Amino acid sequence: MTIPMVDVVAQYNSIKAELDAAIQGVARHGQFILGPEVQAFEEAMATYCGTNFAIGVASGTDALRLALLACQIGPGDEVITTAFTFVATAETIMQCGATPVFVDIKPNSYNIDPDKIERRITSRTKAILPVHLYGQAADMEPIIELAQEYKLKVIEDCAQALGTEYKGRKVGSIGDAGCLSFFPSKNLGAFGDGGMVVTNNPEVAKIVNLLHKHGASTNYYYILPGFNSRLDTLHAAILNVKLKWLDKWNQMRRNNAATYNKLLTQVDYIETPFVENFSNATFNYYTIRLENSRLNSSELQKYLGSRGIQTMIYYPLCLHLQKAYSHLKYEKGDLPESELAQEQVLSLPMYPELSPEQIQGVVEGIKEFIGSR
Ligand SMILES: *Cc1c(COP(=O)(O)O)cnc(C)c1O
Repeated sequence: MTIPMVDVVAQYNSIKAELDAAIQGVARHGQFILGPEVQAFEEAMATYCGTNFAIGVASGTDALRLALLACQIGPGDEVITTAFTFVATAETIMQCGATPVFVDIKPNSYNIDPDKIERRITSRTKAILPVHLYGQAADMEPIIELAQEYKLKVIEDCAQALGTEYKGRKVGSIGDAGCLSFFPSKNLGAFGDGGMVVTNNPEVAKIVNLLHKHGASTNYYYILPGFNSRLDTLHAAILNVKLKWLDKWNQMRRNNAATYNKLLTQVDYIETPFVENFSNATFNYYTIRLENSRLNSSELQKYLGSRGIQTMIYYPLCLHLQKAYSHLKYEKGDLPESELAQEQVLSLPMYPELSPEQIQGVVEGIKEFIGSR
């Protein structure tokens, strides 16, 4: 039995006729750059996320970079974030000339620990950038309170959490800007790179809208030095079709997570994902934790791999310990919960079309591994 981490082709096959028609529609009208499907998708996404504005951009990484710039983050500024995340979260802070300041995570949710933020706020701090990791919301209320008290911007990295709600509100609609990714393996995936900034802040919307098309107000008249960072019409057409299925797919992910949970509760040393009572997790990843220090997640990964089961360690080395960020002068031990998580987590195959038999197969593999130790 071969079980992949994600199966984007299974998803394509499930709505093939609709997607093919949308792709051909774009091929026929030929407006490949900022065609009508882009605006239609932006409007649909603003409605979906509960924001006044949504601007399609070229990737989730660009969504972060443009949102940071639109929040006036620049040289000399500090942005508080997590080190237990994909690199784009921190590299975009650097791209603005600012410095990422890493705060440790909560051990159960893997999201930034709001209790540890305040002691890292300095006169240079300009923003907090929480990540809603694996599809679960970070605890936004205390973050917003701190931001109000210290006059900081809040930029949400929602790349893994589109559709997730925090206390009944969609993530991305809570801070000054929400950054989405349509990378193929995300919960709403394009056929290539794509991203979006959603916001209720008209000033942020205005600047992102300028920046993503070379800073132009109208063609060839430039208000700001900008970028080429548009969402392709073709991707917008595909995403418009897929958006109608997103809630159903997220529910299928939750059902798969429930199946995993049920089968894994009887397995020693395996901790299933914790879900906060303020978040309805959407399981972009289903991540287990090996509780016993004798058990090693990369050994389990190898064991499952030899049985055709693909798994991933998100993330094997926290950003504060990466070579690219060594100039920030963090040391091993600075973020103990993040560093422990990197040793113990393993993300299992997870996608809407995953079958109960496949889940059973993954769990059997895990049981065999534990039994063999
Ligand atoms: C995927 C991801 C991004 C970047 O999105 P891209 O579309 O790949 O540029 C940023 N942050 C997190 C947490 C992600 O998972």
